[in-house]
Order: sequence, then structure tokens, then C-alpha cells
Amino acid sequence: MIDVSTLTLKEIVSSLEKEKFSSEELVLAYQKRIKDVDEDLNSVLEISPTAQDDAKKIDKARAEGKSLGKLAGVPVLLKDNMMVKGWGNTSGSQILEGHKSIYNATVVERLKKAGAILLGRTNMDEFAMGSSTETSHFGPTKNPWDKKRVPGGSSGGSAVAVAAGLAPIALGSDTGGSIRQPASLCGVVGLKPTYGRVSRYGLMAMASSLDQIGPFARTVEDVAFLMSTIEGKDSKDATSVELKDTSVPELMNPSVDGMKIGIPKEYFLKGMDKDVEKLVMNAVAELEKGGAKVEEISMPHTEYALATYYIIMPCEASSNLGRYDGLRYGYHSTGNNLAETYSLSRGEGFGPEVKRRIMLGSYALSAGYYDAYYRKALKVRSLIKQDFDEAFKHVDAIVTPTSPSIAWKLGEKFGDPLTMYLSDIYTITANLATVPAISLPCGFSKDMPVGLQLMGRPFDEYTLFRIGMYYQNLTEWHKRIPV
Ligand code: GLN
Repeated sequence: MIDVSTLTLKEIVSSLEKEKFSSEELVLAYQKRIKDVDEDLNSVLEISPTAQDDAKKIDKARAEGKSLGKLAGVPVLLKDNMMVKGWGNTSGSQILEGHKSIYNATVVERLKKAGAILLGRTNMDEFAMGSSTETSHFGPTKNPWDKKRVPGGSSGGSAVAVAAGLAPIALGSDTGGSIRQPASLCGVVGLKPTYGRVSRYGLMAMASSLDQIGPFARTVEDVAFLMSTIEGKDSKDATSVELKDTSVPELMNPSVDGMKIGIPKEYFLKGMDKDVEKLVMNAVAELEKGGAKVEEISMPHTEYALATYYIIMPCEASSNLGRYDGLRYGYHSTGNNLAETYSLSRGEGFGPEVKRRIMLGSYALSAGYYDAYYRKALKVRSLIKQDFDEAFKHVDAIVTPTSPSIAWKLGEKFGDPLTMYLSDIYTITANLATVPAISLPCGFSKDMPVGLQLMGRPFDEYTLFRIGMYYQNLTEWHKRIPV
């Protein structure tokens, strides 16, 4: 059987083309690995029953010399909040237990068109609310580098799956850091694309002005490759944008010579782990050696980002989650009248974190509070966005840590929402400002991975890929795998 534990997307595409192995063999090898190692990790909620047949079809088409898509025969895992027709997608929630998706998300359609094999769905914090994948109704996912620690969240399942070699690539969603933070804590690459780059049609909405779908992989090159298959305008998502440049990794010249890189002083304050700071600054020094010009910049409204996010996100979430009424899909509890049925179904079906946010959001949106909270938060969001606009007049990319610390112990922050929320301090600004941001491994502290975050101008993922590929050509961090 193929040893899939270290395979990258690029290696798989080339091996499939050269017929070193078939897609069916590959799928079987990943399925076996999931069976062997995921019982402990709990990153995969369900393996697709059709994956092997889907792979056979691609193998047959290849044997017949048919023209194939860019991801022909490549297995991919999807976060549980992306709809795949016929799958039991739940967003990690009890309220959707028993739900069957009746259509495909646009990213799913595009992956299928590119020939990818949908391998299964991954665990996540309930409705993507969390930073540790502990709020999932289906139990926590564990970090493959140390199973006593969290993988980050909310896309913890996808990050763990890629880190543990259960799939070469996976998709997640990022509303405040849910791709980048678990990527950082698990030692893989994760990209939150610019708002509008990837269609969210068929993504179960959390906070619609912040949500983006994006890829996980071992290398920046693989992330760029995967992006090129899912990005671009979609008539079913009015916020998606016609792209001038698509992600074409082949054409990239990974050099940072002459590039201007900003280090925002507001991101390097108290509370950050000293090792994390050191490793991030080592990475910056590498870029400087390559000819990048590094300068300190100021983003003065950063300190308001967390407060702003924790108004806007719950407001939007409280509205988006109104649709789960216990009648149309999933969990149902019968009361004496309609109001009681709603109340019982929602009260029993949602977990505590989701209820907390629905209550926060409903409160902040209610008459008399709307202006004081929601409108004010939108104004501060504009100021945060202006910080980025101003910075990008002088620099091509901004470098920060992805997470202020390495992965913490399971249970350590669970039950203490404020401490949990603080772990997103470096990632939420990119969502508020709608800019692209990528996390890639930049070293280890106490044998746990540390991530470097690069943020770029809107729709300039290309610059992030260039810097990231340059850095990965020089370093080996992304090649280490958990035992
Ligand atoms: N951890 C953040 C939150 O709990 C971000 C979640 C996300 O990006 N989906 O809201």
C-alpha cells in the first residue's frame, strides 16, 4: 500500500499523471490511514461511501486518454459546513443531526469539475464558533503533535487531517481565523483568501460579512494550486468577484528581493509567547536576507479589533442561525405550541457557545442598542480597514504571528470564553479588513509548531504565495510530520 503520510498535492498530481499509482489505490491508502490513526484524533466525521467508485471513474477516464481536470483523482477532505449533496452535513451541531444536504456548495462543484475525489467531512467547532474544535457536538479533535492538546479551530478537523496525512489537501472556512489558527497550531499551511475570492454558496453561514472558504495543505505551492481550482466569480454568491489574476503557481517567481514588508508594532505586545516572537522574527530575518526591506509600521486601531469582531460576528450569526427552527431540518423537539417547539428545539439542539453568541447578537441588534453596539462596531471596522489601506501604501505585505501561543491543553480554555476569544487576536483583523492572509510553519516551540502570518492587499494572494514559497524553499519546517 502507498505510504501517504508525507505526500504533497504536487507529488500526487505528478505520480497520478505518470501512473505510478492509481487514484483508487490512493483513496484506499488514505481510507486505511484514517481508520488506523483517526480514532484517537477524531478529525474525520464521515468517510464518503462513494470515494472509491469516484476514483475508479477517474482512473478509467485516464486510461482512456480523456482530458482530465487539474485535481483528477486527488482526494480532498471538506469541513462539515460545506454542503455535499447526499451527505449528512451538520456544521458540528446536534441541531443538524440527521440533516441531508440537498445540493452541492459551489466549491464542491468546482472540486468535482477539477476531478477531485471527495473523501469525507471533517470535525469543527459547532457552527464554526470556537478556536479549539472543542465545541463540536461530536467530541473534540486532538492535535497530532500532542494528543493532550487542542488543534485550534474552528476548522481543527481539516488542519489535523492534513497534518496527520489523512488527506493531502482540505478545505476550511475562516470568519476570524478558523483556517489560519489551526494551520498554525498543527504545522500546516492555511489561507484565508480575500473576501469575495471564493464563493460561499453552500457554506453554512456564520457571519456573512466575514466568512471565507480556503485551503489547507503542506506547502504554499499546493495551497496556490488548490485555490486556482475553487476561486472566482459565481452567480450564486453576489459577493464573489470576477478575478483579474487567478492563482497560477507555475508562473511564480519565488523571490522577495525588493519587496517591502511591514511589522506592525501593535501585534508584538505583552501576552505573546517569547518563543513565538523569536521564531517569527527569525523568519523575518530570512526574508531580509533575501533582499526584502523590513520596516516597523503602526496599525493604531488593532486594539479595538477583538471587541469589534465580537459585536459584528454574533450579530450576523444570530440572524443567520434563525433558520434552525427545529421544523425544517435536523433536530426537533415538540412543545405545546409553535413558540415552545422553537424554544425547545433550539434550546436543546444548540450548544452553549452558539447560544451565547445568539444571545449576544440578538441583544446588540435590539432596538435601543443597535446604534450603541452594532453601528458603532461597523464604524470601528472602517477604521481598522483604513489602517490596512494606509499600511499597504508603504508595504507589500504585513508579517505577524498567527497565534500568540502554541497549542494549549485540551480543556485549558474551554469554559472561559474571554480567554478563548483572545487567542484570535492576530487573525480577526484580516477578516474585518477583508484582506487575504496565510499561515505557514516557521518553527517549533516545546516540540509544537508555530505559525507565521502574512497579510496582503485585497486580491493580492500572489504576493503572499511568493513570499511563502520563497520561505519554504529555504526552510524545512513544513517537512516535519507528527509521529
Ligand atoms: N475563533 C473565532 C470565533 O470563535 C473564529 C471562528 C472562525 O473563524 N470561524 O469566532
